[in-house]
Amino acid sequence: MATFGNLSARLTDTFKNLRSKGKLSASDVDSTVREIRRALLEADVALDVVKEFTGKVRERALGDEVNQALNPAQQVVQIVNEELVAILGGEQRRLQFAKNPPTIIMLAGLQGAGKTTLAGKLAKWLKDQGHTPLLVASDLQRPNAVTQLGVVAEQAGVAIFAPEPGNGVGDPVRVARDGVAEAKAKHYDFVIVDTAGRLGVDQELMQQAANIRKAVNPDEVLFVIDAMIGQDAVATAQAFQEGVDFTGVVLTKLDGDARGGAALSIRSVTGRPILFASTGEGLGDFEPFHPDRMASRILD
Ligand code: GDP
Repeated sequence: MATFGNLSARLTDTFKNLRSKGKLSASDVDSTVREIRRALLEADVALDVVKEFTGKVRERALGDEVNQALNPAQQVVQIVNEELVAILGGEQRRLQFAKNPPTIIMLAGLQGAGKTTLAGKLAKWLKDQGHTPLLVASDLQRPNAVTQLGVVAEQAGVAIFAPEPGNGVGDPVRVARDGVAEAKAKHYDFVIVDTAGRLGVDQELMQQAANIRKAVNPDEVLFVIDAMIGQDAVATAQAFQEGVDFTGVVLTKLDGDARGGAALSIRSVTGRPILFASTGEGLGDFEPFHPDRMASRILD
């Protein structure tokens, strides 16, 4: 994964140094932890997250599990791996299904984060598993958004519910509510509601998203975030958490070559699990998120 190229390279170097040693002294551990800290900060991982992470690694690396290990360096690598899995959320968290279909999924996030693309990816993924998703176009802010969702729906081969063209701007809350009613009437088992995003966090947007949430009572509210936005990730995620109270996170653009620290910060900062990862513009560039696989890729 290109996103973690630099971080992976830095960690690999750090561990190579470490492996050249037999028993590890406290100062070996300290310098290793310092290098890990620097590598994480350079990858734009949030400072608090870095501190907590390196604190745990240091404590464990100075403890008996390393002291008594046959291969202390390998044990430190193992600890870093385990702590990476932990900050990425530990166990995989699957999508929650409603007891009585349709399962309602609402998407929220900044403009350009990849929501509309994700709506298509998610719909295709569900369809491939035999589900019948309906896409609902509640992004009425961007003139092109409804058309774009239509294109994505066609590519994915799924149905779309959208306001009639020419009806002015329209009411996104009503579209969401009507879309869910349509899904119930026509027995679709999933509804994916695309909502408007702005370039920056703004109150009106947040209120609109909160109103849609209230109107359709989704089973999942997925906060879609571009993994490339670096240090802004934390503030943006916190604003959306306060504004719409999302249930899970989708990381997009993990194929990019920027620093991607958001991926490592977001779970700790929001307390919400990462459910999916998007790794390209194509509808197939998408997968459920596995903390252990991501950690292995970083340490590859
Ligand atoms: P929205 O404004 O949140 O609905 O964002 P869009 O779905 O329109 O996506 C914005 C741009 O990002 C589009 O050009 C997408 O093709 C692109 N995009 C979305 N997801 C990914 C991804 O995972 N990787 C890459 N490289 N581009 C993506």
